[in-house]
Amino acid sequence: MTETSAVSRMKAFRDQLSRRVLVADGAMGTMLYDKGIFINRCYDELNLSSPDIIRQIHLDYVKARAEILETNTFGGNRMRLAAFGLTEKLGAINRAGVKIARDAARDAAYVAGAVGPLGTNIEPLGPTSFDEARSIFREQVEHLVEAGADLLILETFFNLDELREAVFAAREVAGPEMVIVAQVTIDDFGNLRGGADTETFTRRLDEWPVDVIGANCSAGPKVMLDTIEKMMRYSQKPMSAMPNAGQPQRVEGRHIYLCSPEYMSQYARRFLWAGVKIVGGCCGTTPDHIKLVRSEVRVPARSEAGCGQVRVLRRDLAAARCGRLQRDRRRGALQSARHRLHQRSRRPAGQRPHELAGHLPAYPAGSRHRGRQSLLLP
Ligand SMILES: [Zn+2]
Repeated sequence: MTETSAVSRMKAFRDQLSRRVLVADGAMGTMLYDKGIFINRCYDELNLSSPDIIRQIHLDYVKARAEILETNTFGGNRMRLAAFGLTEKLGAINRAGVKIARDAARDAAYVAGAVGPLGTNIEPLGPTSFDEARSIFREQVEHLVEAGADLLILETFFNLDELREAVFAAREVAGPEMVIVAQVTIDDFGNLRGGADTETFTRRLDEWPVDVIGANCSAGPKVMLDTIEKMMRYSQKPMSAMPNAGQPQRVEGRHIYLCSPEYMSQYARRFLWAGVKIVGGCCGTTPDHIKLVRSEVRVPARSEAGCGQVRVLRRDLAAARCGRLQRDRRRGALQSARHRLHQRSRRPAGQRPHELAGHLPAYPAGSRHRGRQSLLLP
């Protein structure tokens, strides 16, 4: 890949983001688990040992018409890889992650370098200093950028200090052209597990050199929608939402995600009305979910996606208009838009959206949930 093509794709993505809504893929970990890969494996290392499995999952998301593929590099930092004795392979794992996603994406999708938390406490809660955290993030991002990532997604962070170090590391390495998306994971009340409430973390994210802010994973789409709408009161930046398919429930010995593709697509519609610019999924979401999410987003035909000659269709205009209304705090207008949406939805009479989960097909769990880090892996 030439440097020119990497820079032009970076610019193309920035251009697309300014014009319309983009759909990201769903879970990688869930799909790997469903393919029989147990959670004691280092999933990032599969980029080297089982690239065909990773490529096929990316291809399944391309078939579902996702426009952003996240690389299988969520845990590709020195701290996490050290737990598996794989620090020597850090560069190869991250570069292979980008290459595999690029092979699958071709011209149909952008490749987002995925960066997750370090998996350890940083100062003052643990031994890792801010400087050390920043240099660890820099190391991973250098490989993702050198391999040609079109954008970077920093995701599933719950410690603001750690996310700050990741953001500045990414910007220092990637330069001003790269779109950087910074996402937190929230609890049932829209707060970070690290203690910050929605207003606090949104105001911090707003100050940092990132292009898109938002949330991923967390507690399903309903809490995320409420939180994103609240975030919009404190920041004008474009927002992203990549919820998990609800909290996994234990049913007859198996963990099941209760949010069906239909339920997720109803919430995708609500995210669009709220003005979200990137919508996708996290743990428990599959190509079936993303296919229906994409059907809610009327975007140009695939061949037009990167060319810049994009027709902005009515749905996008409606979403953009609604986002502006939100930002102007014209809540009445938004509520009436929601009411219209409510009337149009296909759910049975009298049923509230969040009650649908139990009445629609359940989807098996399968993310790399481990102990206390249970919702930290996409
Ligand atoms: Zn997740």
